[in-house]
Amino acid sequence: MNATPPPLKRPAADEAAQQRHDAEHLAQVMLALGARSAYVIAATGLSNEQVRHWHRRVTGRQAARGPVPYHAASVIRTRAAQAHASLFAALEQQAATGLARGVDPWRILQAFQRYLALVPEALLAQALTINDAWVIARDLRGGAATLVWCDLCQAHYLDMQGSTLSGCPVCALYAARVGGPRRRCARRFVASSEPVRTGP
Ligand SMILES: [Zn+2]
Repeated sequence: MNATPPPLKRPAADEAAQQRHDAEHLAQVMLALGARSAYVIAATGLSNEQVRHWHRRVTGRQAARGPVPYHAASVIRTRAAQAHASLFAALEQQAATGLARGVDPWRILQAFQRYLALVPEALLAQALTINDAWVIARDLRGGAATLVWCDLCQAHYLDMQGSTLSGCPVCALYAARVGGPRRRCARRFVASSEPVRTGP
């Protein structure tokens, strides 16, 4: 007789222990990547004390104190950084499908690692940090940042509320780099910078 066994229900104590284990695992991965405590607390639900304990264990240092940036516009300040942010945001949004549109820490970490793998070695010093990535992902969810399509580059770029960087960073970097055709390119850049919103 192959009777279907009743569904196993984990006792509440085991459930709590597993949740704590999962939260501590996530905290260790984030801290190893250099995440600030405030973001680790937000991602894991662990207490400030617990995260500071894991910070010492993982990095051998005390966690930094002080406020953390709240919006992407305050950390992404140059065209080069905006280009990096756009690549990360596109990877993160690609992974955010269907119902999983909330802030998912593991998805952010995976997108961040995929982003780092795509950054040429010579540019790694300019790469985003996990903290930049966290703020960008949170802004994308909250609507303070959106991915906008650039017709000229045929790619998305990150548009951030409250940022002085408007338009496509790749077009702007190109226009700044090419001395001669700069005006023509800049004109095309202005003409093509009409945002094409991709929706919330
Ligand atoms: Zn462009």
